Amino acid sequence: MWDVAVVGGGPAGAAAARLLASWGHSVLVLTREVDRRRGLAESLPPSSRKLLAAIGALAAVEQAGFGRGIGNAVWWGDREAQLEPYGGGARGFQLFRPELDALLQQLAVDAGATVVRGATVTRVAPDGDGSHLHYGTATGARTARARFVLDASGRAGVVGRPVRRYESAFRMQALIGVWQRPGGWRLPDESYTIIETCEDGWAWSIPVAADIRHLVVMVDGTVSQVPRGRTLDATYLTALARSRQLEGLRAGATLLHTWACDASVYSSSAYAGPSHLLVGDAGACIDPLSSFGVKKALASAWVAAIAVHTAMSDAARRAASLDFFAAREREMFLAHLRQSRDYAREAFARHAHPFWGQRAAVVVPDGHDTPDEAGLARAADVQQAFARLRGAAPGPLSAGNLAYDTMPLIRGREIVLEPALRIPGVTSPMRYFAGVDLLRTADIARGGHDVPGLYEAYSHAVAPVPLPAFLHSVSLLVARGLLTMQPRPATPHV
Ligand SMILES: Cc1cc2nc3c(=O)[nH]c(=O)nc-3n(C[C@H](O)[C@H](O)[C@H](O)COP(=O)(O)OP(=O)(O)OC[C@H]3O[C@@H](n4cnc5c(N)ncnc54)[C@H](O)[C@@H]3O)c2cc1C
Repeated sequence: MWDVAVVGGGPAGAAAARLLASWGHSVLVLTREVDRRRGLAESLPPSSRKLLAAIGALAAVEQAGFGRGIGNAVWWGDREAQLEPYGGGARGFQLFRPELDALLQQLAVDAGATVVRGATVTRVAPDGDGSHLHYGTATGARTARARFVLDASGRAGVVGRPVRRYESAFRMQALIGVWQRPGGWRLPDESYTIIETCEDGWAWSIPVAADIRHLVVMVDGTVSQVPRGRTLDATYLTALARSRQLEGLRAGATLLHTWACDASVYSSSAYAGPSHLLVGDAGACIDPLSSFGVKKALASAWVAAIAVHTAMSDAARRAASLDFFAAREREMFLAHLRQSRDYAREAFARHAHPFWGQRAAVVVPDGHDTPDEAGLARAADVQQAFARLRGAAPGPLSAGNLAYDTMPLIRGREIVLEPALRIPGVTSPMRYFAGVDLLRTADIARGGHDVPGLYEAYSHAVAPVPLPAFLHSVSLLVARGLLTMQPRPATPHV
């Protein structure tokens, strides 16, 4: 009986396995053999470094010799090229995914996980206090038992497929061509990801070596008008000819091979069962346009590992931990869908085609699990309170009507229930806003401080935070009556 069996050794599976093994759990990873001919060139934004560090993989990824990612060159609609370098000289990675996956799997092994490559899981059957996994290898059929199963099988969705919900407006197929150009392309900066919208699709290119680039076209078979050729190469070249920038990269280059894969966007109606979680793309897949798929998979793995570790350490927190994971996956998916819809609205203004029109019209439900911080910051009463706080002479603050509740939070490698505040107009309890601890702010305000004094006391007692974030948090507390601001006593005239 393993503590945890992980189905799939992509970024999500390997990262979760590494964390859980390093925290002392017995972990079995079953993963199919990698097909390098169907390996993608992918781009990881600089913000994925924090997650790579959290799983103890940043140093190894930095030393692996992957390409540096310094930003995007974007042709959105008929606009001129926009160079979008990552701010502050930040660096991401441009890499060939099979190489990243092999590295992350090795790190899982180093942490103590058992990784079986060439193992295809065919069925996961819950049984009492765990699950039976049935899998095939080159030497025959096998079974294993585990207390917890993490389905990290990506689009295959070994456990998750029955609860999958596709976004019909975001159906997409990727047509991928691997090109070689002796001596490279001699672009102003080869390491930019090139992204371009077309009338009824979009295209992008990422280098994996000085002389190799993947040129990829995304289409929606139901609305894009790409005539199907006699071969995949022919269909691909027709689709590529609809782009302007990528088509230009063909000159002097040789097409090594093509392949195609589904890239449709989907989520799940449930991300957790009694003893399984859907991690990474097994639960939800976002629009590849964002280049956040691997980052999202790593984040999902990090929270899944914490949820499973908590559930196995303390039965009383099991349900809350699994719910926490599921709520977070739902929110992440909705936030990404909202962003893709907004990109599509911009593109639709320039390409009046149903490909963009149907994406632009998607209705994204509000998330209920975590408050919409940006929306709260824009609320009229919060803005008014902000203006008063920044006014010439804000008066002293004191605690108003405080209503307490509890909420699950990540502390180290566990999910714990901690006190939080009930904020009028917000459905779920809140502990943090703009990175500021609202509960501690309200507690410190009991001592009676003016705004500068409260800021100083908070920075000293909790942690230094940027002043604008602190003022926004205090504005929220004042606007919703949890803090009151006294009028400043008039200065007597002498
Ligand atoms: C065309 C395209 C371009 C993309 N570009 C980017 C990009 O530039 N940047 C980015 O961050 N993201 C990109 N993504 C998204 C990214 O590829 C995924 O989000 C990411 O791979 C998800 O990781 P994962 O570990 O959840 O799943 P996967 O990477 O899909 O890993 C799943 C693993 O499970 C294994 N598996 C599947 N079935 C079984 C089974 N039955 N038994 C055992 N093992 C199994 C697979 O072999 C694989 O190893 C792109 C996606 C597409 C489709």
